Amino acid sequence: MPQATPPDNPDMLIGANVSVAKTGLLAAVEETLSYGANTYMIYTRSNRGGKARPITEFHRDEALRIMDEHGIVDPVVHLSYLVNLASPKADTWEYGVSVLREEIERVEYLGFRYIVMHPGSHVGEGQAYAIGRIAEALNDILTGEEKLWLCLETMAGDGSKVGNSLEEIAEIISRVHHHERLGVCIDTCHNYSYGYDVVNDFDGFLQRFDDIIGLERLKVVHVNDSKTPFGSRKDRHANIGEGSLGLEALKRIVHHEALRGIPRILETPGQRYGEEIDLLLDRTRAQAPVTG
Ligand code: FE
Ligand code: FE
Ligand code: ZN
Repeated sequence: MPQATPPDNPDMLIGANVSVAKTGLLAAVEETLSYGANTYMIYTRSNRGGKARPITEFHRDEALRIMDEHGIVDPVVHLSYLVNLASPKADTWEYGVSVLREEIERVEYLGFRYIVMHPGSHVGEGQAYAIGRIAEALNDILTGEEKLWLCLETMAGDGSKVGNSLEEIAEIISRVHHHERLGVCIDTCHNYSYGYDVVNDFDGFLQRFDDIIGLERLKVVHVNDSKTPFGSRKDRHANIGEGSLGLEALKRIVHHEALRGIPRILETPGQRYGEEIDLLLDRTRAQAPVTG
C-alpha cells in the first residue's frame, strides 16, 4: 500500500536506490511506491561479485504493467562497483568489459534507457593512462546499436578515481567512437566534495557542464548530502539536510529547470528515502493526495 502518491508532474522524476531482492523489479516498484516516488535505481547484480541472477527472473512484464499504471518511468541501472575499466591488470579489465557487455544486454531486455557507471580507478597509473584504458574498453563494447545511454558518473576525487572533473569526463567521451551512446550522471555529494560549489553556484556548475560536456548529455542526477566538507575529496553520503550541502541547496538543485524530466536518484544511508523525498518536494504525508 503506497504511503504517498508519486508527484503528478512528469518533469519531477525522483526516486531512490531500491532493492531487487527476491522478486526483482516487483520489489523495486513496490519500494518505489512506498516512497511516493516515480522513478528508481537498481543494481541488477551483487556488488560482492558472483554470477548474475538471470534477468528473466526479474518479473519484467508484470513490473512494467504496474509502473505504467502508477506513472513510474525511466528507471536507472547502476553497474557493479567491481567493474574497473581503468585497471592496468588484464584480468580485471577483461572482467569489466565482459560484465558491462552483459549488463547492456540485460538492461536492454528490461527496456530501460540508462546505465550509470563509475569511470574507474587508475590504481597508480595516473589519469591519462586510465582515460585511454577506459576509452579502449568502451570502444571494444559499444557498437552504436545500443538502445540505451551509458552514463559516466562524476566522482569525488577520492582514492585514484577517474572522472572527477568535467574535463576528465569530456576527455573520455571524446575518445569513444560511439560517443552518441554516452551520457553523464552527476552526483551532488561527489561534485561538492571534489570542489564544484553546487551549493552556492549550481548555475555556474551547469554552465561549465554545458561548456565542457554539453547539457544534452546530462541524463541522471544522484541527489545526496555529504558527510564531509566542500573540497574534501571524500565520498561519504549523508542523509538529505544532514550534511555539508544542506536541505535548501539540495532543494534548489532538485527543482532546477535544467533537470526537468531527468531522473533524480537518492543514494543516502538508512533507507529513509520516503521522508527525504517528502522534504525535497515540500510534501507532507497528510497532504499527499490519495488515489486508488
Ligand atoms: Fe555511483
Ligand atoms: Fe552516485
Ligand atoms: Zn558516492
